[in-house]
Formats: sequence, structure tokens, C-alpha cells
Amino acid sequence: AKTLGKSRVQLFHREMRRSAITRLTLEADLRRAFANGEFVLHYQPIVSLASHEVVGFEALVRWQRPDGVLVYPGDFIPVVEDTGLIVALGFWILREACVTARAWQEAYPRETPLTVSVNISPRQFAEPDLVPQVRRIVEETGIDPHTLRLEITESITIGDADREVSMLSQLKALGIRLSIDDFGTGYSSLSYLHRLPLDVLKIDRSFVSAMDKSAESFQIVNAIMNLARNLGMDVVAEGTEVEGQIARLRSMGCDFGQGYYFSRPVDRAGAARLLEGAQHW
Ligand code: C2E
Ligand code: CA
Ligand code: CA
Ligand code: CA
Repeated sequence: AKTLGKSRVQLFHREMRRSAITRLTLEADLRRAFANGEFVLHYQPIVSLASHEVVGFEALVRWQRPDGVLVYPGDFIPVVEDTGLIVALGFWILREACVTARAWQEAYPRETPLTVSVNISPRQFAEPDLVPQVRRIVEETGIDPHTLRLEITESITIGDADREVSMLSQLKALGIRLSIDDFGTGYSSLSYLHRLPLDVLKIDRSFVSAMDKSAESFQIVNAIMNLARNLGMDVVAEGTEVEGQIARLRSMGCDFGQGYYFSRPVDRAGAARLLEGAQHW
């Protein structure tokens, strides 16, 4: 029993070491990738359910490896978050998204200018100089801050509540709009939500996709819609994949959709093609 125990321990250590090495390699690769400019942004349209017009885009980061492989954020954002590299990468993402949005706003003028949404992770949100850095990027890129939306999740709200309200209020004071992402998956209380100066609520894909199968999910989406309406927020339904969802969401009074039914995230050229207006949804 003793030897068996020992070999198990050795096996355990070997696996630990292997995963630690994999992890260190990935960390080093990601730092090098950042230095070499291998991160790219893709853009997924947010579409008005009433007019079927593209009203804006969400920027989504990818790692375009030199070997041609496109790595999705689920496979590297957690590591980039843990190592703190997310701070530098996050500011790069914000700048790149603002520059691109500004170019689109000029090339495709609309009565209501196109918006761009950028994800802010919890680690970024904890950054002490987040607000001055965001202000600097807005100024340097010349984007109209009213067209910029920062997407936060309920998981930022596990920290110091007063600091969060203060940070979000400072961002709002810059003219920036705030979205609560993946809504319904976290644990924040309604009173807390009420305290935050939020403009847009994004209903998580899990509720949207379950809506057709279960009456409960349908009721949850309906309740979230009413909540958002009462708080004066716009609603974006995430993960809209099929036509039936669009009709149901519209009948509930949902303003906007984002999902594969309209378009997958596409590169800059693909987004420009969508804006050329060849789309009929
Ligand atoms: P998210 O912010 O909830 O972004 C939406 C995700 O859902 C994207 O995955 C998008 O491709 C996917 N999606 C959109 N429509 C559909 C649909 O109809 N069906 C299905 N099955 N999926 C859909 P992606 O790009 O892989 O990003 C995953 C997550 O990684 C994001 O979730 C976000 O949490 C994080 N992430 C992505 N880009 C960034 C970034 O620039 N900064 C930070 N901090 N996090 C990011
Ligand atoms: Ca998001
Ligand atoms: Ca989301
Ligand atoms: Ca998500």
C-alpha cells in the first residue's frame, strides 16, 4: 500500500509539473504574441429587431498564431487574466476598437452613430488607473464617448461595492455607456443592479436558447425584459440563433439581438461588408 501510495504521489507530481510547464509555456507564448502584435479583433453586429439594421458591434479578441491557427478567447483570456497581461492587452483592445469604430462612423454615417462594445474583465476593472487610461484612449482616438459601450459582468460586483459604483460613475461622467453582460448568470441582487449606472442589459445566451424549450426560461426572459424596462435600460438578447427567437423576443419588446442568426463575429473587412448593407434578415 505504501509503494502504491508513493507511486501515486509521484504520478501526481509529474502531472502537476507537466501542467505547470504547459501553463508557463502558454504564458510566455501569450506575452510574446502580444509583443509581436498577434492579437486581432473580430466584430459581431448588434442588430435592431425592429428595423433589422446593424446598430453597432461587439469587439471580440482572438489570437492569430503565426502557424495560422486562430485561438478563441476562452482558451487564453483566463491565463491572460491571471498573469495580469489582460491590463495591457485590454487597453490595446480598447484603443483598436475605438480607432476602428471611428473609421466606420465616418464611412457609414447614420442618424444614430454606430456603437462599439468592448469587454472589460474583472482584473481590468480592478486596475487603479482604469478611468484615466480610458479617458486618454477616448481623447487620443477621438471617438464620441457616447458611442462607446463598456461591457462588464456581474462578477466585477464581488469586490468593494462603493468602489464599483464610484468607478462606473466616473466612466459615465466621461459620456461612456455601460452594459451588464451575461445577465442572469450571476448573483447580484436587484437593489445592487439598481444602484449601478447601467444603460444596457445583455440577456445571457443560455436563457435565450432555452426559451423555446421551456416555459420557465420564457418567463425568465420576460421577467428580465420587464426589469430592464423599469430601470430604463436597453436590452440586447445574446446568442440569437434562429428566426423563431427573433419573433418572440420582438413580441416581448426586446430592442436588439446579437447572435449567429444575424452574423458570427467577423473580421474588419467582413464587418465593413455588413455595413455596406447587403444584408436581408
Ligand atoms: P461574451 O462577452 O459573452 O461574448 C459573446 C460570445 O458568444 C462570443 O464568443 C461570441 O462569438 C459568442 N456568440 C455570439 N453569438 C452566438 C450565438 O448565436 N451562438 C453561440 N453559440 N455563441 C455566440 P467568443 O468570441 O469566443 O468570446 C467568449 C468570451 O471571451 C466573451 O464572452 C468574453 O467573456 C471573453 N472575451 C472575448 N473578447 C474579449 C475581450 O476583448 N476582452 C475581454 N476581457 N474578454 C473577452
Ligand atoms: Ca460581452
Ligand atoms: Ca455575453
Ligand atoms: Ca459569455
